[in-house]
Amino acid sequence: MLTIRQYGDPVLKQATKDVEEIDASVAKLVEDMLETMYAAPGVGLAANQVGVQRRLFVYDIGDGPQAIINPRITETSGEWAFEEGCLSVPGLSWTIVRPNQVHLTGLDLDGNELSIDAEEYQGRVFQHEVDHLDGTLLVERLDEDQRRQALQVLRSRVLAR
Ligand code: ZN
Repeated sequence: MLTIRQYGDPVLKQATKDVEEIDASVAKLVEDMLETMYAAPGVGLAANQVGVQRRLFVYDIGDGPQAIINPRITETSGEWAFEEGCLSVPGLSWTIVRPNQVHLTGLDLDGNELSIDAEEYQGRVFQHEVDHLDGTLLVERLDEDQRRQALQVLRSRVLAR
């Protein structure tokens, strides 16, 4: 089981690096990340949330475990408001407006190219996880009022540690 890094950990603000070779270490990382995600429990987990600076995430929105290597969102459209939380910012959630439809490219664990059109919940998970891999937390997606309140809570948490 891996430790999920929490808000304030600098690793969450660093962009990850592309996976160059999908080898046994990547397969093992995916396995450990899935176990950690299910135990949390959560529906998605990005590698830098467990302190690994590699561009991949895992998720399960009810269709079984999935891993996406070197994911990129190439197109977005529409708008959708959804209450979003994050395993690195536990116990808090906010209604966040983001694009509804996204197109995501990447590789599966066998190195096959993926090209996925997603919307609503799946589209939201993709955007949230790709944000992580770019070093962006959901706190940066809040409106001004939400953000002010969030930062008060989060700063006091960091100071209490
Ligand atoms: Zn998250």
